[in-house]
Amino acid sequence: MFPPPDHSGAAARGRLAAISGDITGLKVDAIVNAANTSLLGGGGVDGAIHRAAGPQLLACCRALGGCPTGDARITPAFELSARWIIHTVGPVWRDGRHGEPALLASCYRRSLELAAANSVRTIAFPAISCGVYGYPAPQAACIAVGETAAFLKNHESIEQILFVCFSDDILQAYQGALAGRFGA
Ligand code: ADP
Repeated sequence: MFPPPDHSGAAARGRLAAISGDITGLKVDAIVNAANTSLLGGGGVDGAIHRAAGPQLLACCRALGGCPTGDARITPAFELSARWIIHTVGPVWRDGRHGEPALLASCYRRSLELAAANSVRTIAFPAISCGVYGYPAPQAACIAVGETAAFLKNHESIEQILFVCFSDDILQAYQGALAGRFGA
């Protein structure tokens, strides 16, 4: 009558996909922003999201009073096609021995917790920390895929997670992680 429980993670991975493109143009329920602790905008994907969402976003973020590294906050998406923006603060890469993997995993987990709590069914992530913050893409992609697949196993309400890649090296890293080519 009912499908058996999925213990392999294969069904969860079927809801993950890597695509090339600009996250600001996507018609999904929520896009994730790689923000900084001030939540007041910056360069990279953060700047692009603030430009595309319009000035109301900055006013809304200002009222949030910042966000610690590894945590996330949610706002409306204003002029974007998406409904929500989930702002998460990735770690700055030092050498991998300063808590970076746990903090990056926490970004994905906390973002998805907020998504599930707000009835988000489709969500798009940029490569958090892989730009100015310098996280090596293959390692970051492994964490992104591992953490999101683990979350999906226990959250049927989320139908699709897109990893939006702004360059070929990032796309290759995510494709490798999705294919299980890199160690977790
Ligand atoms: P961080 O400070 O967390 O490293 P960045 O914004 O510098 O954040 O970079 C994160 C990733 O987002 C990088 O791979 C960068 O190329 C990518 N990126 C930049 N602009 C966009 C965009 N409009 N859509 C999707 N990804 C983007």
